[in-house]
Amino acid sequence: MMSNRPIRVFSDFDGTISAKDVGASLFNHFSGKRNHGTVKLWIEQKISSRECLWRECHYIKASREEMVDALSRIEVEKGFREFVDLLGQHKIPLHICSDGLDFYIDAFLGKAGFDGLDIHANKAHFINGSLYPSFPYYARGCGYCGTCKGERVRSLSQTGELTVYIGDGFSDRCAVGVADILFARGDLVKLAEEKSVDWQPFADFYDVIRYFEANLLT
Ligand SMILES: [Mg+2]
Ligand SMILES: [Zn+2]
Repeated sequence: MMSNRPIRVFSDFDGTISAKDVGASLFNHFSGKRNHGTVKLWIEQKISSRECLWRECHYIKASREEMVDALSRIEVEKGFREFVDLLGQHKIPLHICSDGLDFYIDAFLGKAGFDGLDIHANKAHFINGSLYPSFPYYARGCGYCGTCKGERVRSLSQTGELTVYIGDGFSDRCAVGVADILFARGDLVKLAEEKSVDWQPFADFYDVIRYFEANLLT
């Protein structure tokens, strides 16, 4: 299938563009793992992601600088740089959609030398030594996500476009069945199977590039 439709790409950040989950590792480390019960409630869908992030932020007593310094151990997923270049060459838009916090996404991508990527995420506010989240996209979404990936795909895509979503986990579930092509790994595979939605496997972005070159780009 060569696409004669314009293509638009959406990608999760944590555990997809970052080889490991940056948000989880920061919250685990700076809360002394006090967040574990909270995350469990979120996965069990007993609390919303907004509530989950509120509680997780409440456990943090660290500055932006301390948290950003801790990012250096996590790598950009293999092939992501080349994937960004490929999309640029073909003028295909890329939107990074995250139910995490903007400050570590900006810092991580900035440190890795990326510039001008389009990021949709919840916002972090460091006020008097405490961290507070806010949710600019919440009201448009499903009511459960802070930044709902399904809502982002619907809102940002234009009629006639072929939409591609790439993700790895529970926060991506609302995009399942919304995007035309789904790349999944990790827990997202099970969520796609549960909804009987077709999905493409990927180990890293080189797999995504190979699929694009074989199927979507002329
Ligand atoms: Mg993820
Ligand atoms: Zn949602």
